[in-house]
Amino acid sequence: MLHDTKNDVTVRIAERAWVLVSGMDGTRDLEGLAAWVKRAGVAIGDEEMTSFLTELAAEGLVEDGPGEDDVVTGEAAAQASSGGGAPDRPVLALPGFGLRCDGQGTCCRFYPSVVFSPLEAARARGRLPLVEDAGLDQRRGFMPLAGLDDRLLAVALVNGRCAYLEADLRCGIHRSGAAADKPLGCRVYPARFVDDGSAIRVSPWLECGCVLASGLSADGGGEPLTTATRGAELERAIFVERLPELVRLGRTLTVPRSEVAALSLELSSCHVPDGVASLLALAAVLDGGEVAGAKRALEAPPPAELTHLAERLAAIRPRVARLAAEEWRSPEDFARQLATALLGAFDLLDVMPEELLRGPGVFEMTESFYVRALLFGHQLFHPKGKHTMASLARDRAVRVLLGRALAVTANLAELTDPAFRHPLALVEACSRAYGLVGYLHTFIDENGA
Ligand code: SF4
Repeated sequence: MLHDTKNDVTVRIAERAWVLVSGMDGTRDLEGLAAWVKRAGVAIGDEEMTSFLTELAAEGLVEDGPGEDDVVTGEAAAQASSGGGAPDRPVLALPGFGLRCDGQGTCCRFYPSVVFSPLEAARARGRLPLVEDAGLDQRRGFMPLAGLDDRLLAVALVNGRCAYLEADLRCGIHRSGAAADKPLGCRVYPARFVDDGSAIRVSPWLECGCVLASGLSADGGGEPLTTATRGAELERAIFVERLPELVRLGRTLTVPRSEVAALSLELSSCHVPDGVASLLALAAVLDGGEVAGAKRALEAPPPAELTHLAERLAAIRPRVARLAAEEWRSPEDFARQLATALLGAFDLLDVMPEELLRGPGVFEMTESFYVRALLFGHQLFHPKGKHTMASLARDRAVRVLLGRALAVTANLAELTDPAFRHPLALVEACSRAYGLVGYLHTFIDENGA
């Protein structure tokens, strides 16, 4: 599959066509490409090659070659692939949180890319050479993560699952030797690191049912998100987001980064009775310029109204429909199953919005933990300052509402996959992994934010 992440286009190509594409690195003309495929033992005639390249060009997938801006220097490439190292500040993890993995492998069978460094791929191929026959030929098990740059690799997916996930939903690499041989992303997940200038906050990505279930656990057991106490102890390749110097809270409200640590801490201690209503109320006070009212908004919000969410829901729906329509995915592909169920959730919202807005019901504690973790981890601040905290709070209110609707549709459709027990986590995962949140790039809400 060729994924054009700029235009959200996916093109399916045959394996022999991939051999041709893999030679298109900007150094070969048509004659050179013909020699490239011939050397690889693949028979593609001139006419077929020209026709295929014309089709690719029509999809906007062919460039003449790298421009000045596209040239990555050795130093920049090294930094991009290895991480720049975290600043040596205290590391503050979400208090009381410990992760208990349920062993259902949901995170191993959902994400469209599982990233390996070349060294991690070599270790996996050495330990389990028969997986996709990648021990013999790396290209059978790994593709460049983007373009033809093979300094970061994406593992092959089989029916949407990481090729190293075994039939009993255990990681084959982990089982074959040591957990330390899994790729960094799998070892660090679900921890998210955000540098706020005074400390590095660590909170979980809220995209896995295990995270939400662990957040509800009263005994506080489980694995810590990190054992590091200072930034210098973190592996250099770990990506640490950095808050901008000025943080946009609302339409006209911007504060220096030095003020947000205390704000996040204070707000994350609130009891949130209703995820949708509380996030919408928080957004309203921030857009009104009143930080002082934020705590009360979270704890005692007015009832939520669909009018504040309808346009966002309408912007997200076509993205879900596009994912559900990707028929090249196998019926076992969990992303396809989820997209279909999510379309049902949108339909449900059309017919019974009041019931779904009435309150969280059995998800009260889940939604309360969800908002607490978002706030503690600075997850409602955009790292590049593109969106206000108010806008991101409304986006999360949409996700919470969709999660409630998904719970009902999954139940009605008798979807038995255990992942559906935590529908909010699935909406979260789909938002990031399958680009639902991309609607924000062009979305202007009722407040012009
Ligand atoms: S490498 Fe292992 S832990 Fe990582 S996604 Fe694959 S199966 Fe899961």
